[in-house]
Amino acid sequence: MIVSGDASPPCTEVNVETFDIIYRYNPHETAIRPLPPDSNTALLRLEEGNKSFAALIDHVKDVSGIQHVIPVDPRDLGLVSGSPEMPKQRPFAAVLGCSDARVPVELIFNEGPNDLFVIRVAGNGLGTEVLGSLKYAVENLGVSLKLIVVLGHSGCGALTTAVDVFLNPPDYLALATKHSLRSILDRLLLVVQTSARKLLSAFGPDVVLRPGYRKALIEASIVTNSALAAYSIQQELGAGAPTELRTVYGVYLLETREVWVPRLGNVEAVGLAAAPHDLGGFIELGEAIVQSRRIASYIKLER
Ligand SMILES: [Zn+2]
Repeated sequence: MIVSGDASPPCTEVNVETFDIIYRYNPHETAIRPLPPDSNTALLRLEEGNKSFAALIDHVKDVSGIQHVIPVDPRDLGLVSGSPEMPKQRPFAAVLGCSDARVPVELIFNEGPNDLFVIRVAGNGLGTEVLGSLKYAVENLGVSLKLIVVLGHSGCGALTTAVDVFLNPPDYLALATKHSLRSILDRLLLVVQTSARKLLSAFGPDVVLRPGYRKALIEASIVTNSALAAYSIQQELGAGAPTELRTVYGVYLLETREVWVPRLGNVEAVGLAAAPHDLGGFIELGEAIVQSRRIASYIKLER
């Protein structure tokens, strides 16, 4: 399978050269990517995969003819010589992401078929079916599964709606007959309220008057929402989860195609972070969010 970008017809906004992303099985290469043996290796593989994807798209602005190859094991496509059996499911990570079409999970992590157990729902919230799916994965795919990832993304429509309702509560009335939408929104409003209080304490009461306040609140809420989902998964799985299984989270930035989580001491950090373990973890995260250049840049916007 090939995903291609092509310079013809030319893009009017940026100069993009031809590039190919290829899923390839090469029978002459014996070293098909092995499954990560532990959560640390699984985490590094996803982080490296995302860096590789982000770098690829950066380069296609200047270099033509780039081919990016993702190796696949034919057994994961049911291509087993002489065997009619379906492939065995063996993902090394379960990913809870948003339904947003701009965040194709396997692609942005440089993964292929049978690598990831993906659950996508608007706002990457932890509803009953989502949690049930994750519990299924943990209980039935434990041999290969080493990592659970919650992946938010910048510009998330679900958080944007929640922020807009928070800033203008009468908008909530229009949702009176839309129970299914409210079920997504209601669990996000607490995250938005908490993030708003943090922005207020960090930047002062006038922050709400800044032109970029809404955008800052959306982006701060997106980070907090992902961290809260990761924390909740960790708590829900509790002692029943395999000890080597880790839960992490991150935010995919549509602007740079990198996964980002601000951390105290490294607020511009690229990669995934461990789920907060307690209230102290969330307080630290709140500090890191308001200290990050991303959030501050929105607060400083003049108009
Ligand atoms: Zn979204």
